[in-house]
Amino acid sequence: MMIRKIFIVGAFLLFSSAVLADGCKVEIEGNDAMQFNLKEIKVAAGCAEIEVTIKHVGALPKATMGHGFVVTTAADMQAVANDGMAAGIDNNHVKPGDDRVIANSKLVGGGESTTLKIPGSKLEAGGDYMFFCPFPGHNAMMKGKLIVG
Ligand code: ZN
Repeated sequence: MMIRKIFIVGAFLLFSSAVLADGCKVEIEGNDAMQFNLKEIKVAAGCAEIEVTIKHVGALPKATMGHGFVVTTAADMQAVANDGMAAGIDNNHVKPGDDRVIANSKLVGGGESTTLKIPGSKLEAGGDYMFFCPFPGHNAMMKGKLIVG
């Protein structure tokens, strides 16, 4: 009887952590080696809002190793990244008014973090989305798939 109870509690804990990981809140880390800790992010379909926290766990300043988080369709990613390079650090390396950008955060430097809220209505379940860091040169390594659903 006791063993059965422990098993049920354990199963519940497993289930709730899976829900967190696949839910509406995500945390991603960037480091001084120009890497994100995730290559793929899964969020639930039907979130009213998706909250992404970007944490720079390195020590280098924004001007030399800035990290941010931009969401586009896979098809738009490279062009948005290219235009963002020219947009400058004051625009967080995103071309102002770029309507191909689904969402973007500000850039952060070492030890800083920022939170981005994406309205769920902007993402369709099953869509082909990418996230990447818009800092010049970073998107070759700092990118991944954003999976909805
Ligand atoms: Zn970066």
